[in-house]
Amino acid sequence: MSDERPANLSATEALQELTRGNRRFVEGVAEHPHGDAERRIELAKGQRPFATIITCADSRVPVELVFDQGLGDVFVIRVAGNIADDAILGSVEYASLHLGVNLVVVMGHRSCGAVGAAVDYLDAGGTATGTHIDALINAIRPAVQAAQRQGSEDLPERSIHMNATMVADQIRTSEPVLAGLASQGVTIQPAYYDLESGEVSWL
Ligand SMILES: [Zn+2]
Repeated sequence: MSDERPANLSATEALQELTRGNRRFVEGVAEHPHGDAERRIELAKGQRPFATIITCADSRVPVELVFDQGLGDVFVIRVAGNIADDAILGSVEYASLHLGVNLVVVMGHRSCGAVGAAVDYLDAGGTATGTHIDALINAIRPAVQAAQRQGSEDLPERSIHMNATMVADQIRTSEPVLAGLASQGVTIQPAYYDLESGEVSWL
């Protein structure tokens, strides 16, 4: 499987590209690249995004804006709490195997409501809501518990960091595909987005 991965930016080059784009966004000099008809026509023949980015569905975290990217640049997976289930792992596998993506970013963000719900759930003694939100809470709960073991101060924000790091670990060790791609240069990078400054920190 591995030999057929298409050529793409290295993880280091991809990280630099995202860092540069985020800096433009933060500094108010975004270029909004790759948004014209010419790009659409070019992409209709096929895509070669240079990074996969898993982040929250939160309306304040629009990936192409935050990293100043355009059509065909980034393979984006958004779900509340930036968790990874089988469908998401399959999406990450697809991008790395068939599109050659070498950088996978898992990005949590400040004031994440999904992580906040998981913190509240544990505070309330773990009462299920009976809604599908329970699936999100169950996925995030181990990160909150790990953050709790490190202390109670600023638990929601520390849980957000922990969740991004743990989901990155989950992807990095995922069998049968992703665990084997590390040796081929695929890097899984946790990150944190600050809603107010617009800045992305690599964790
Ligand atoms: Zn969120």
